[in-house]
Amino acid sequence: MIRESVTDTIGNTPLIRLNRIAEGLRGSFYAKVEAYNPGQSAKDRIALFMVEEAEKKGLLQPGGTIVEATSGNTGYSIAMLAAIKGYRCILTLTSKASTEKISLLRSLGARVVICPVDVAPEDPRSYYSQAEQIARETPGAFYLAQNFNRDNALAHYHSTGPEIWEQTQGKITHYICCTGTGGTLTGTARYLKEKNPAIRILGVDAYGSVLKKFWETGIYDPDEIRPYKVEGLGKNIIPSNLDFDLIDDYIKVNDRDSALRARDLAAMEGLLMGYSSGSAMQAVFQCPKEFHEDSLVVILFSDHGSRYLGKIYNDSWMAEQGYLPPESTDSRAIAPVSICRTQDDREASRKRYRTYYLMYRLYYRKFIHQTQKSLGL
Ligand code: PMP
Repeated sequence: MIRESVTDTIGNTPLIRLNRIAEGLRGSFYAKVEAYNPGQSAKDRIALFMVEEAEKKGLLQPGGTIVEATSGNTGYSIAMLAAIKGYRCILTLTSKASTEKISLLRSLGARVVICPVDVAPEDPRSYYSQAEQIARETPGAFYLAQNFNRDNALAHYHSTGPEIWEQTQGKITHYICCTGTGGTLTGTARYLKEKNPAIRILGVDAYGSVLKKFWETGIYDPDEIRPYKVEGLGKNIIPSNLDFDLIDDYIKVNDRDSALRARDLAAMEGLLMGYSSGSAMQAVFQCPKEFHEDSLVVILFSDHGSRYLGKIYNDSWMAEQGYLPPESTDSRAIAPVSICRTQDDREASRKRYRTYYLMYRLYYRKFIHQTQKSLGL
């Protein structure tokens, strides 16, 4: 079949059964593999939809400039579309984005502006503020604003949701999805819940992000914010694209488990997926009681692993982070989590549990103080 344009190859990504990694868990597990999009991520869907809606609304004119603040994947998709449709493209990224991602964007003709990662969103140096400023100062510019542009979630409502429903013949019982802007989860989950309100929606968040706490309490708590490594997952703002009411449970995952789980996907399933796909897979292992023998679980894998060759698929980087024991770096390219854990990873585990223990002590101390205060002690 001949396609008229690269844009015609966006969407209709495969749903692939996970045969080995989920062994021992109840239910059947399937991956919605968004790396099959031409830009190798789910963001192709939203870039196409948002750009075409902006064209229809007259917000983007021929020869115009598309501006966006992006962790990388949306940027790639926008740069790709800008190349196809003849727009200029300016992207602001945080310094957390991998060098591979930055090179990819530049090779598609985009101008890339790197902004500091550890500043507040309202700081004029943040990648959001910089994108706004560039859009204001560039004639004919359109700022896509994926966190707040409702066409982000709508793109998934019109494509990812119906695809998953049809691919599972309506038998899906659980949908597991990482949340950043919330567009992927919101659009897909809204469609699925309309078809069957009993489908359980499990959101995935990072330690260091504000999203889960907001879902639990309705409070935006800046104290939750701290640096973490997984790209695309979590937020330090509350994006209006994320409909928190659709989420039945929210699971926080850490950098180490996400990295090891992504490597397991490669080693056990032949799926070289991105870092946040490891997070989504890790979430499954953190809520095994959710699933029953007849559960049909769909896990969305957002992007491809080739963008993380210098990070989670690089043994030296893994050892530097303390995710792999140093002696494993020269002999074994990829080690399933189970092997890492049973051999010589005990000290790293002990360290982790010590950190958890200290965290919990601090957390409970806060409540003791509050109780004492309220009792006037
Ligand atoms: N994973 C990756 C790799 C991403 O780039 C993103 C998007 N920032 C997400 C997960 C989260 O998707 P969404 O923005 O639709 O919530």
